[in-house]
Amino acid sequence: MSKGSGEFSGGCMCGAVRFHIRGTPFDVAYCHCQSCRKHTGGPVATLAGFKVGEVSFTGAGRKLYGSSPGVHRAFCGDCGTSLTWEGEVHDKGPIMEFHISTFDDPEVLVPTSHANEPERIGWFDVADELPRYEGLNGVTTLLHHGPLK
Ligand SMILES: [Zn+2]
Ligand SMILES: [Zn+2]
Repeated sequence: MSKGSGEFSGGCMCGAVRFHIRGTPFDVAYCHCQSCRKHTGGPVATLAGFKVGEVSFTGAGRKLYGSSPGVHRAFCGDCGTSLTWEGEVHDKGPIMEFHISTFDDPEVLVPTSHANEPERIGWFDVADELPRYEGLNGVTTLLHHGPLK
């Protein structure tokens, strides 16, 4: 795997669930929504999104939790690692968004925006100049670039 190759691999902490992706992420973004924060336990989630047809899994099957109508979040049933957001989004059809640190080489997947900025925890921020959206990035209102000064 190298930068721009369009091939990515990763998995959970214990290695029971492994995934392989052949494709280009349509998005790499921070998500500040409460559901993502609950799912990861962290102050922000960072996700790389792919079309379902570009993704394959090996090893044990991932476990799915229905977090809202039409949306599932996957995790490893053995070690509990948070893996994905899965659902349908607008023009993209069925997608899977992978939590960035489940990739073997997250360095090559660089975030380009923030989603659900209004749900950001007040004491947490990232010193960047990326666009920040009210809801889904690129689909909802662009609020501002970078942290509020
Ligand atoms: Zn595991
Ligand atoms: Zn989210």
